Amino acid sequence: MLDWFSRNARDLPWRHTRDPYAIWVSEIMLQQTQVKTVIPYWKRWMQELPTVKAAADASPDKIHKLWEGLGYYTRVRNLQKAARQIMEKHDGKFPDNFDDVVALPGIGRYTGGAICSIAFNQPTPILDGNIIRVLTRVFGIAKNPREKKTNAQLWRLAEELVTHASANNSRTRTRTKDEDEERSACSHFNQSLMELGALICTPRNPQCPVCPVKKLCVAFRENRAAELPNLGRRTATTARHFIAFVIERNGRFLVRQRPAGVVNAHLWEFPNVEIGARLSEPQHARLQNIAEKITATDSTRTRCGSGDPRSKSVADVAAQLFGSSPTSINHLCTVKHSITRYRITLEAFRVQLGGRSSTTPKNFGTRRVCPSETGVWLTLARLRDLAFTAAHKKILTHLKHNGRHLR
Ligand code: SF4
Repeated sequence: MLDWFSRNARDLPWRHTRDPYAIWVSEIMLQQTQVKTVIPYWKRWMQELPTVKAAADASPDKIHKLWEGLGYYTRVRNLQKAARQIMEKHDGKFPDNFDDVVALPGIGRYTGGAICSIAFNQPTPILDGNIIRVLTRVFGIAKNPREKKTNAQLWRLAEELVTHASANNSRTRTRTKDEDEERSACSHFNQSLMELGALICTPRNPQCPVCPVKKLCVAFRENRAAELPNLGRRTATTARHFIAFVIERNGRFLVRQRPAGVVNAHLWEFPNVEIGARLSEPQHARLQNIAEKITATDSTRTRCGSGDPRSKSVADVAAQLFGSSPTSINHLCTVKHSITRYRITLEAFRVQLGGRSSTTPKNFGTRRVCPSETGVWLTLARLRDLAFTAAHKKILTHLKHNGRHLR
């Protein structure tokens, strides 16, 4: 594995450093996110916030903007909390003790193991989806790895392997293939497992003929790679529908900031309402009924003019939300995206409100704690500086491209 890794490791920017802070940032970004997506984000982050202190001192707007588009924003908030703890409890020096590392917010057993092995070459195991796939196949483990007992067995295996890599490396210690290699056995072994899972032992069509461990692999020998790992039945997906309103007044757009304690907290979005959500407030219940009519009709049309049955429904929702009937409605775009088990469809409408009452949404069922959560009017240039949720960022991009045409 070490030989294979030295010949096949991808040249990733965080592999050029032993700085635990840089490795930590990469590991947090890589959770739930592909390597090619993470690279530009990591580079930008390290350029803007190159030290633990810089991350601890950065404003919430800054860290959210740097993370914008990566999703799962709790990660970045925890990263900053952890950076502040490192400043307070460890004098700004990233701890090199596994127990201290996993005591930091947002760092679990996997991330702690990755940081300690990669940055400090300690024999700390790691186990994620890629490594579970490799280990269940190599060792022919047919039980569901999500079950507690099997999961514990896999962690033990991962620990034995990285410990063995470390011991083996000391025994075969030479002054040839550089001393760096001998100081990197744990780091390189864990990364070789990650790399094998990402490049060779892929979920579908693993490249067994070129795999460095094929002679040891039970799944290869017994032609069982397609059935391992045995993850049981997948969780059913749930469809969710939202409508969003893009409202402009005197060159400014109405946007709001999501409050603390909800998904995508602190990020910005256009006013929107979920269709079919369980909401307690009677006004919301009425809105849902009206809004359901919107998606009950064909959403593929690009405009929602007077002849479109949706325009009446959108107008009714807008009037309820903003206390003013729209003078025009245009369908701006449909955004589809997935978060965990949710398949989300977001219909965005560009709405011109009549009268003088186009102020802020009356009621979105959320607690109001500051004006930015109720809604504020900002220029397009200012919106570019704010961190939007992924779906609403797409609306913003669409707006920038089509704004002139629709005005
Ligand atoms: Fe995966 Fe095939 Fe290698 Fe086994 S031989 S570890 S199934 S790629």
